[in-house]
Amino acid sequence: MKNNLERAELGSPIIMCQAGAVGVKLGRARIMVRGIVQGVGFRPFIHRLASDHELKGWVLNSTEGVVIEVEGPIKRLEEFIANITLKAPPLAVIERVESSFLPPVGYQSFIIQASQEEEGKFVLISPDICICPDCLRELSDPQDRRYHYPFINCTNCGPRFTIIKDIPYDRPKTTMAAFQMCPSCKEEYLNPSDRRFHAQPNACSACGPRVWLVNERTTGDSLTEGEEAIIMARHLLNRRAIVAVKGLGGFHLACDATNDASVALLRERKCRVNKPFAIMSLDCRAVEGYCHVNDAERQLLESPQRPIVLLRRKSGSPISALVAPNNSYLGVMLPYTPLHYLLLERRGGEPETLALVMTSGNMSEEPIAIGNEEALERMGTLADAFLLHDRDIYVRCDDSVTRVFEGKETIIRRSRGYAPFPVRLNFEMKPVLACGAQLKNTFCITKENYAFLSQHIGDMENLESLSSFESGIEHLKRLFRVSPEVIAYDLHPEYLSTKYARELRGNGQLSSGVQFVPVQHHHAHIASCLAENGVQEAVIGVAFDGTGYGEDGQIWGGEFLVCDFRHFERRAHLKYVVLPGGEAAIRKPYRMAISYLYHIPTALTSGLALLDRIDPVELEIVRRQIERGINSPLTSSCGRLFDAVSSLLGICDVITYEGQAAIELEMLADESFEDGYHWPLPRGKFPITINQEPILCDIIHDLRTGVPIAIISAKFHNAVAEMVSGVCCLIREQDGVNSVALSGGVFQNLYLLKRTLSHLWRKGFTLYIHHQVPCNDGGIALGQAVIANAKVTSPELRRSIYVPSGAV
Ligand SMILES: [Zn+2]
Ligand SMILES: [Zn+2]
Repeated sequence: MKNNLERAELGSPIIMCQAGAVGVKLGRARIMVRGIVQGVGFRPFIHRLASDHELKGWVLNSTEGVVIEVEGPIKRLEEFIANITLKAPPLAVIERVESSFLPPVGYQSFIIQASQEEEGKFVLISPDICICPDCLRELSDPQDRRYHYPFINCTNCGPRFTIIKDIPYDRPKTTMAAFQMCPSCKEEYLNPSDRRFHAQPNACSACGPRVWLVNERTTGDSLTEGEEAIIMARHLLNRRAIVAVKGLGGFHLACDATNDASVALLRERKCRVNKPFAIMSLDCRAVEGYCHVNDAERQLLESPQRPIVLLRRKSGSPISALVAPNNSYLGVMLPYTPLHYLLLERRGGEPETLALVMTSGNMSEEPIAIGNEEALERMGTLADAFLLHDRDIYVRCDDSVTRVFEGKETIIRRSRGYAPFPVRLNFEMKPVLACGAQLKNTFCITKENYAFLSQHIGDMENLESLSSFESGIEHLKRLFRVSPEVIAYDLHPEYLSTKYARELRGNGQLSSGVQFVPVQHHHAHIASCLAENGVQEAVIGVAFDGTGYGEDGQIWGGEFLVCDFRHFERRAHLKYVVLPGGEAAIRKPYRMAISYLYHIPTALTSGLALLDRIDPVELEIVRRQIERGINSPLTSSCGRLFDAVSSLLGICDVITYEGQAAIELEMLADESFEDGYHWPLPRGKFPITINQEPILCDIIHDLRTGVPIAIISAKFHNAVAEMVSGVCCLIREQDGVNSVALSGGVFQNLYLLKRTLSHLWRKGFTLYIHHQVPCNDGGIALGQAVIANAKVTSPELRRSIYVPSGAV
């Protein structure tokens, strides 16, 4: 910023005037501020700042950002410009401040001018942000007119993305259009020096949304409303009931997290056997009662995004073990809406609630409910009561999930509080729509050097998810004024996102010249990691995950690529094994264990507890599937190797959520143990095939000799980490590439990630991992977008791109 100013001083003639006897140099600065600067209280902030510095002029919203002209003494102008960045409102994200100096024109006052809009231009849109400290103070101040009003907000906080139907961001284009502001609210809204100046969701109990409690699904009769409704909901929660609570981006199902019976009931009703539930506590002090929280984690918990943060659980914690079975972490968040605060704060004579389960309001893997009617319909059998309100949610947006890895935020699910904030790229993109993967789907739309990665759509396994995906795409296209010229999609023919792309190709509704680019799954994983790290040169990409469609039609997932955005070469991979019964082998890790052991002559003969746990009839079926390959594709998946080891060790034979077997295997690994199994690596011809059999033989040997499971798990993890580093060294010798990027869901395993990085570091590699974008399939769309862009803009690669017939 200072540099900009210095450049402006050097480059443009600064015309200064002597202000009479004082001899102060006067000037006029014209300033353009870009980034998230609209709908976040930026103009009133500039108004105040100008008055603090006694400067005259104006400010306005344009379609590219905020434009300011101020005049006064040069020294004060400089301070003013510096303070724009230093003192910006909490929700603003300033990307650039450009300033130039001009002769003064004699402004007499400072005013906020009407907005200027131009066709096709766009501004960044703020994600939803948690209640700010000022509003929180007013919420609990009996003298304030919004005392205990559950929808209090201001320009510094409150709903944004989830209520915006279109731009420009004005009340009529939000779901607040239904509410007419009362005179008091209107006055605040129109007063430039008020914290609620142009706060689009501004409201109070006289004019705004209201809350009520319902327990009768069939009639939807209200039990009680307003403050009483919240007190009643608390009362029910304290008596083991399950309450559906309408939030910011959808419904939660809430229950007392310290009560085994409530949590067990919720699991039973939701048909969610083991997958961890997120919990919410009033503040960090409460969280410290049951989890270890370091400074970085505290900062993340208290950040305005209010994500779910994965924290290490304290032993003997009062939180029910059923909240996250067989897991040493808990997903914890702090309240982010005023309603959450009112629900958690101690009131109405009720005992203090340490933590509430706040899990998504849906049946197993469907999208979360957002509408009142929809919630009553879909969750009638799940909840005992519904805490509803009438501020409509326009965009479904799940809670985000993050963790701190080596002091830095590392995202696992990027959604509420983050979307639709873009990932900044260090190059310009064509307008691309990337359709993402099948599980944990997000899509990505690009414009200029921004990649708008969508909120979490979920597993694309039902019509509800597909329709959420389709409407999400239309919405982001409209908000950011993008009409895609390139459509990127996964190679897997059965992904619903791929089918969507193919239908676009077939239905002829797109303008001619739109190009379709299929992208290999693991190439996309690595490209996503490179894009967020601003890397464009070739790297060794280690992509370890459960399932991704390979160019040979087999299921890949233990891949070493040498790649940049444009191409990839498969340099090494885990040896193919049979996936007996396809999907069945993913749900039942013991099938994978049999598949691995089948080729080890001594393994299946005797003494393995695993064999005693399997029904002999099924064992026979699996044998036949392996021998004849019936409904049994081949896979090089690393996720499946973890599954097999987990089952072999008797940790998890059947999964009830994705990744369960591997997670439970990780949780048991002895952290203090550094030795690993020796994994011999082949030398010679590329691509290298890495044989898993030697380490499985070692594991069986340890099992038979009674080595503890925690040690075997540690030795296995350490062996994988060392193998990665060993293979990367072989590839470096061959290709001369010295950078490694790690991606794919397997690297959510911190035990593995930490050790892999440390081995690679010792070998002198430059390393890239994910922080802003998930390493799992939730980050795939970003990689697809940058690859497709690189391919269509690279002349020698254009042949491989499909252009619809009839196109120019
Ligand atoms: Zn506020
Ligand atoms: Zn009002």
